[in-house]
Amino acid sequence: MIYQSDRLGQIPPYLFAEINKKKAALIEKGVDVIDLGIGDPDLPTPPHIVGKLVEEMQDPVNFKYPNFIGCLEYRQAIADFYLRHYGVDLDPETEVLALIGSKEGIAHLIPTLIDPGDMVLIPDPSYPVYRMATLLANGQYFDMPLLKENNFEPDFSSIPPEVIERSKLMFLNYPGNPTSATVDIDFFKNAVAFSKQHGIPIAHDSAYNMVTYSDYTAPSILQVEGSKDVAVEFGSLSKTYNMTGWRIGYVVGNKEIIKALSVLKSNTDTGQFTPIQKAAAVALTSDQSCVKNHNRIYEERLAVVLEGLTSIGIQVEPPKGSFFVWAPVPEGFTSTGFVSHVLEKTGVIVTPGNAFGPSGEGYFRISLSVPNERLFEAIQRIKESI
Ligand SMILES: *Cc1c(COP(=O)(O)O)cnc(C)c1O
Repeated sequence: MIYQSDRLGQIPPYLFAEINKKKAALIEKGVDVIDLGIGDPDLPTPPHIVGKLVEEMQDPVNFKYPNFIGCLEYRQAIADFYLRHYGVDLDPETEVLALIGSKEGIAHLIPTLIDPGDMVLIPDPSYPVYRMATLLANGQYFDMPLLKENNFEPDFSSIPPEVIERSKLMFLNYPGNPTSATVDIDFFKNAVAFSKQHGIPIAHDSAYNMVTYSDYTAPSILQVEGSKDVAVEFGSLSKTYNMTGWRIGYVVGNKEIIKALSVLKSNTDTGQFTPIQKAAAVALTSDQSCVKNHNRIYEERLAVVLEGLTSIGIQVEPPKGSFFVWAPVPEGFTSTGFVSHVLEKTGVIVTPGNAFGPSGEGYFRISLSVPNERLFEAIQRIKESI
């Protein structure tokens, strides 16, 4: 007897499970493992945010069920952030919804908008939740290849008409995980035009909107005129403020989509703990120098990795956002072959590109989630192994 739905049976075996098994075995043997696989910041949440959580946790008013769509203080802080940072006006009552992390909202958006058999347009490679949540909703996904020669942007003109016909949603993600690609507003203008032409709403995942380098600022899709007719944008406190474990995010934009998602959510969860929302409001509205400091640290780490890779003969253009380096594997290796080789010979964990979709084959992803010395050490070990 298999106690599992057919839907769940479609989910392929977890690619990281094998790596985790090998990692555990190496640690058992006393190997000094350096994990560059996880996309989880090693830096702490800034103290003013933690302080607000502690303060709000003393107030019994906050122990009750939270407001379904999020407390007003948090929704207003998100609207204020959009106005201040992007010049985009949002109505906190209808165009902003609090999420228990953006992953939760992304996964729930899919059954909000698609019926069994419908298609979802998904960047390839990308965050695995888009495709897995589509399968769990009995939908089908269409991979839009992100190729280096196209700046890792999808080519809308190459999507077959019969796919467009059946598509009910398209995902985009810039700065991108895993590609670290960034775009300018013209790309979003084209995406919105495509979306309007075919009646396919867009969900833009902007998890790395504030993790950017030098003088690059990542645009919001909502800066495109008329985008609110077709687009929603997912945001997260996780990467910007080192709050991955707090589980707090949001979605903004098209009213009807947000309303529909809130109906689904109100029958599934009951929102995030109010003190976490209030602390997130403080994160968004207070002085942002902590964000600059985090980015400066990532930028230094990035320089260490890029210099190291160059010395191995792997050329990567410096990314302008995200905390990933997306690099081609050396000649003669597949993604999985290279990752296994590096893990067994050096104890360094990197992620195989094909874990993010078929077009990720030939690449590996390094996460800048350890200090400079460890990154340097990791690259030296890799250098000696090849
Ligand atoms: C980390 C990440 C998320 C999830 O963020 P949470 O708000 O912590 O759920 C979503 N999308 C991408 C591309 C990510 O890398």
